[in-house]
Amino acid sequence: MSDQERTQLVWFKRDLRIVDHEPLTAAIAAGPVLALYVYEPSHWSQPTADARHLNFINESLSELDGCLAELGVQLIYRTGEITEVVDALHSEVSIDTIWAHEETTDLIGYRRDLDTHAWARTNAVRFVELKGRGVVRRLADRNGWSKKWQEYMDQKVIPRPDKATPVTVDRGKQCSTRDLGLAVSACTSPQRGGRTAALDVLSTFLDRRAEPYVKAMSSPVTAFDHSSRLSPYLAYGCVSVRECYQASKLRREEIATWNSRGSWLKSLRAFETRLRWRDHFTQKLEDQPTLQIHAMHPMFESIRSDFDLARYEAFVAGQTGFPMVDACMRATTATGWLNFRMRAMLVSFASYHLWLDWRPVADLFARLWVDYEPGIHYLQHQMQSGVTGINAIRIYSPTKQVHDHDPDGTFIKEWVPELAEVDPVHIAEPSLMSPLEQQWSGCIIGEDYPAPIVDHLRAYRQAHDTIRLIKNQPNAKRISAEILERHGSRKKPSRRRKKS
Ligand SMILES: Cc1cc2nc3c(=O)[nH]c(=O)nc-3n(C[C@H](O)[C@H](O)[C@H](O)COP(=O)(O)OP(=O)(O)OC[C@H]3O[C@@H](n4cnc5c(N)ncnc54)[C@H](O)[C@@H]3O)c2cc1C
Repeated sequence: MSDQERTQLVWFKRDLRIVDHEPLTAAIAAGPVLALYVYEPSHWSQPTADARHLNFINESLSELDGCLAELGVQLIYRTGEITEVVDALHSEVSIDTIWAHEETTDLIGYRRDLDTHAWARTNAVRFVELKGRGVVRRLADRNGWSKKWQEYMDQKVIPRPDKATPVTVDRGKQCSTRDLGLAVSACTSPQRGGRTAALDVLSTFLDRRAEPYVKAMSSPVTAFDHSSRLSPYLAYGCVSVRECYQASKLRREEIATWNSRGSWLKSLRAFETRLRWRDHFTQKLEDQPTLQIHAMHPMFESIRSDFDLARYEAFVAGQTGFPMVDACMRATTATGWLNFRMRAMLVSFASYHLWLDWRPVADLFARLWVDYEPGIHYLQHQMQSGVTGINAIRIYSPTKQVHDHDPDGTFIKEWVPELAEVDPVHIAEPSLMSPLEQQWSGCIIGEDYPAPIVDHLRAYRQAHDTIRLIKNQPNAKRISAEILERHGSRKKPSRRRKKS
């Protein structure tokens, strides 16, 4: 390779595709290309890491590998910290430019990106990060953010690139869970990784599953089928947000020609709005990376200082005595996914009923949800646990959620088989069954299934009063106003608020 042909290194992270991939396209135009995926020990040793993520990533990488090979690009695997990895590669193939997407990630990843820039400067290598979603780097303020988002989403999807001039080195191999010291995954029915699966999920959603989306997304009985289920594919970039947005818009325009008022259009609009929320939340972490570990509103930083391990363990095991909570927890463990409302209910329960600090709970669900995406995840945990100071306190009643979203106990009975024979009348609160009813249903409370570990009403009142007390302190409102200015959506909030 001559000096004019120094290597263009494409660093794949959460963008495991070749379509709508500007760094890859730009690298191919610039010279001979090598593609890299790095298993970073600093990432995989965090409390957020789980084998379910690794399995999804490896499945996606295997497919990416084949797609890159068709372009004549070799994908290599390395284990180590990125600066060590590129240092070793640089001595082998002389890197001209490292190409990557901008990534808004956790603090470890944030510092890693700074280190990579420092390494690149020291070694006279260019490190070019290109925008790959609607998040804006170095955003001055939130005004006009939605317009910027829309402009990005309306730009043309970047097509699959042309053939590349290859660079060849030792390929390395994918890491297994054992290589990274991870426990075997308890996720028995995960979504399969890779672009083929992503496109299949997108097309079944847009072709037929989306019609009842708005109505079906809240209940765990219907959400598994009628929510888009695109989240892990978006989290690992098997498909881009822009591809999904444009496919939905196209479908909406097509449907509008024969049905201009029905549920289809409402549903697709709601889906596109959620794609915007995805970047809206991530923008907050981009603007303030410490939101991973510090409450947005400093007066809520240490409100839950005593961590009750026994309560936490009962919650994790799906043994709280609240059927909807336990069913959701067990479904999460086994499938790696849950719909929004039930996620919010779980976090509300952990935060308000069990009074657990949001940080370890966020780490727990980061491990369990395959779609773990730091920008959405930590901000949702802050919001659902009431520490942002700018959102209404929303304490979900786990029994009301049963009446509203699983009155027959279909979902509960699937995941909590101890309750399989319980009459639907008692499915929300089986501990209210008489001793005779417990016998008839084969479920003795305290033996087959626990009594509730907390009293809902008492926990609700205590939590509500504690949060209110802080919110009403003289300084609190001023700080909230500053937070709203920095991070708030510029849309007017709805005045109507239903009971949760
Ligand atoms: C405590 C908590 C933690 C969460 N953590 C994550 C996470 O780590 N990763 C993640 O992708 N989603 C997270 N969500 C948001 C939401 O629950 C999931 O995106 C959704 O359940 C995924 O299913 P879906 O792809 O079928 O969603 P759909 O309803 O079909 O939505 C399409 C896409 O829009 C985005 N989206 C949907 N809802 C939201 C939302 N409320 N905020 C921001 N973006 C949204 C997601 O990318 C999703 O894939 C969290 C929600 C809560 C309450």
